Amino acid sequence: MALNPVLVVRRFRVQEIKWETAETYTLVLAPEDATDMVAFKPGQWVYLHLFNQDGTPWAKAAYSIALAPEECSQRIELGIKLHGDFTKRASKLMPDDVVGVQGPFGVFVLPPGESPLVMFAGGIGVTPLRSMIRSLVKSGGSRSVTLFYSNKYVEESPYLEEFMALAESASWFRFIPTLTQQAPTDWKGERSRIDLAMLQKHAVIDMNTTYLMCGPRPFMESIRGFLKEAGIDVKKQLKEELFG
Ligand SMILES: Cc1cc2nc3c(=O)[nH]c(=O)nc-3n(C[C@H](O)[C@H](O)[C@H](O)COP(=O)(O)OP(=O)(O)OC[C@H]3O[C@@H](n4cnc5c(N)ncnc54)[C@H](O)[C@@H]3O)c2cc1C
Repeated sequence: MALNPVLVVRRFRVQEIKWETAETYTLVLAPEDATDMVAFKPGQWVYLHLFNQDGTPWAKAAYSIALAPEECSQRIELGIKLHGDFTKRASKLMPDDVVGVQGPFGVFVLPPGESPLVMFAGGIGVTPLRSMIRSLVKSGGSRSVTLFYSNKYVEESPYLEEFMALAESASWFRFIPTLTQQAPTDWKGERSRIDLAMLQKHAVIDMNTTYLMCGPRPFMESIRGFLKEAGIDVKKQLKEELFG
């Protein structure tokens, strides 16, 4: 019996590692065989497999694809934050090294339809949301999106400039970055954790909006708590991905 295509570990080669911050890098990967490109929905993730020098499996970990499907005819990008052994080893990959890509997986995807979207990202949890937002850019629509993006410091905020530039050019996209530790004197964003008051200041709270969140567990618990407090039906209106 043929293996389900999403379970096949496909051979990809490293094209480039781009450092976005001191602790976060974008791993650019292309399939060895062009027909092996993964077909995914915005927000889905893959397993990245790393190999030993003799080609035997070493370990795998889950990463959201950080680009829109429309941009991925030849390559994918994974946005990875340095953490433990796996992410350190992956950060030392060199152009042309072989890795395995398995997937796509996941149900945290761009909700169909035209309902307004309010997104909450904590740190590297922004990657699946970046895929969704870039997909909306590519489809040329005008669906309303508000992205709240929380980091400790400006230097530790991957893709910050990209979202700022998009907010300047696309009237449908509102970007609310916030820094929870220290902000530069000329910082124009928010300066505290995301809470109900911040949500009320920048976005509508209603039954027609879909809320999406991705980040560390305490971040997600806090957001779920104030959305409930605001009367949002979190079972129906809130979608989430935990980088557990
Ligand atoms: C759905 C989902 C999406 C995610 N998307 C992202 C994302 O876009 N960006 C991101 O940065 N994170 C993402 N994560 C988190 C990511 O999967 C890892 O948990 C995170 O990068 C932690 O990395 P680490 O270096 O601490 O890995 P580790 O916890 O060190 O290791 C990961 C795996 O490697 C194995 N391993 C580690 N060291 C060794 C060793 N010495 N020998 C053998 N095996 C070893 C571990 O057993 C484990 O299976 C996501 C998680 C999930 C569940």
